[in-house]
Amino acid sequence: MVCHLRSGSRAAAIAPIEAVLFDWGDTLFHPPDAGRVILDAARKRGIAMDEAEARALWTELWEAGKTPEEVASGRDLSLEQHRASWTRLFGRADSRVPGISARLYELMDPYRWTVYQDTRPTLETLRARGLRLGLVSNHAYDLRRVFAARGLSPFIDTYVLSFEKGVAKPSPRLFEIAAADIGVAPERTLMVGDHPEADGAAARAAGMQTYILPAWSGAGPRGLGHVVELVDRSRDK
Ligand SMILES: [Mg+2]
Repeated sequence: MVCHLRSGSRAAAIAPIEAVLFDWGDTLFHPPDAGRVILDAARKRGIAMDEAEARALWTELWEAGKTPEEVASGRDLSLEQHRASWTRLFGRADSRVPGISARLYELMDPYRWTVYQDTRPTLETLRARGLRLGLVSNHAYDLRRVFAARGLSPFIDTYVLSFEKGVAKPSPRLFEIAAADIGVAPERTLMVGDHPEADGAAARAAGMQTYILPAWSGAGPRGLGHVVELVDRSRDK
């Protein structure tokens, strides 16, 4: 039996973990400070808005982008769909700050995203343990180039990207492809992400162990060190 690990779980995995797959957004990389972008745009236009409202507006948009309907919209299957879907969603804020949707879409450029403090150290440590590592992402961009630009290519063995495979999470199919690519049995593979359905339930349906990160505080490390603990515990048995 494999114990599936959930957010905050301290239970140890039973099958020894030999491969770790990561989600991209809000897992290894975080977006630019969109709340600040909204606030600056409002002030430039003379619109009364404080920082709390700007941040709440962004949180509302970002969370709306994670609903099952949006995830299933096909936005991660092509750049055209990506632009159309996100621009439509960000357009909800145009009535408050005219033109902000186009500005927010610019922030979706993955080259503008930032790694968390503990992204590189975690990948380095897992690599030093001899694990196979992969990325499983709903994305319309070739993230290999972003990893290369950040010097992170040596840590990733395979990139399973929705726009290349024609299928997106939460379809378990993307994880089945990842398992075949990485060459490790699903039950010995740990999927790490931030979305309970897309990264959690879908990977479990493909037979993988999963770990869903708790929400990030907005500063400091992402909490990826816990992944190393899970790997080590699984192998101590
Ligand atoms: Mg994510």
